[in-house]
Amino acid sequence: MQRSILRTIKAHTRFIVTMHVNPDPDALGSALAMTIFLRSLGKEVSLVNDSAYPSWLRFMPQSKLCRAFSASLVKALKPEVLIVLDCGDIRRIGQVAQWAGRGVKIINIDHHVTNTRFGDQNLIDIKSSSTSEILYGFLKTARCRLTRDMAVALYLGILTDTGSFGFDSTSAHTHEVIAELLKFDLPVGELYRQVYETMPKNDLKPFLSLMNTLTLHHDEKIACLTITQSQAKKFSDDFDLKDKVFGFLRAVKGIEVIMILAEQQKKKTRLNFRSRGKVDVARFASQFNGGGHRNASGGFLDMPLKRARACVLKEIVKAL
Ligand code: 5GP
Ligand code: MN
Repeated sequence: MQRSILRTIKAHTRFIVTMHVNPDPDALGSALAMTIFLRSLGKEVSLVNDSAYPSWLRFMPQSKLCRAFSASLVKALKPEVLIVLDCGDIRRIGQVAQWAGRGVKIINIDHHVTNTRFGDQNLIDIKSSSTSEILYGFLKTARCRLTRDMAVALYLGILTDTGSFGFDSTSAHTHEVIAELLKFDLPVGELYRQVYETMPKNDLKPFLSLMNTLTLHHDEKIACLTITQSQAKKFSDDFDLKDKVFGFLRAVKGIEVIMILAEQQKKKTRLNFRSRGKVDVARFASQFNGGGHRNASGGFLDMPLKRARACVLKEIVKAL
């Protein structure tokens, strides 16, 4: 598949690279590396995301390449190929999907177990720790000479999607790729701090009061946190709240499943799940318009927060 994707790339001129809404470092990192690669081949390429990227990812090299979707972009850009990174299904790219369909070829590169193979070409490896790890292999096949910026982007993608090499998706191959990337003399400590140790001080107290509202269920095996829109507003844009909540609760012994329910609109609730391994939360999320990985997934319900909470708590008992 790598070679046939390369042939498609060589045969075309105009590209859009994209990834899932609210990108994480794996999505943005792999998308940046792909964009820089296509540029090095002299292609016309735009990196477009539904909503650009959260401001805390500004420190990623060349992050400014990434533009937010807009109606005027639809008029201006006439891509022949749409390259989608780190998305289990095409709806995950949000409004960028407006380019799909119009005779535009879709290349789908991803590692989610629930991937729907929505592309004309699909490079899927569910054993891979991250899309960034897959992309490293692809660039190697393409005989691409990595730049330092590409190395940083891919390193950050792998670092975060493996939970700093703590998830079971971390393999010998993951570490081999990391060893290659570190040859660029990357500032490991500084990159780690940028990702994990930049919580704005102003967010500490709202964080602690939000954590106080946490509830435990079913023998304290399930942790459930709801976030209303007005609670969410108390945090700065620079703060990845859900990630911090998951990171904190993951450290608590005996919790099997962590659920965050966030009010998006009056009747729309976003769901995010993490599992310690017993419960397959990718399958669980597929009941709620979503998907993801066995131990990390998401979805949504067209319901108010309270009803969504009752619904999800009822279903999780069956899954346990
Ligand atoms: P997160 O909780 O970090 O947003 O997502 C956890 C994992 O599940 C990520 O790998 C993410 O791509 C995937 N995921 C999150 N939300 C959805 C969704 O609505 N649909 C699908 N297919 N995957 C999702
Ligand atoms: Mn990923």
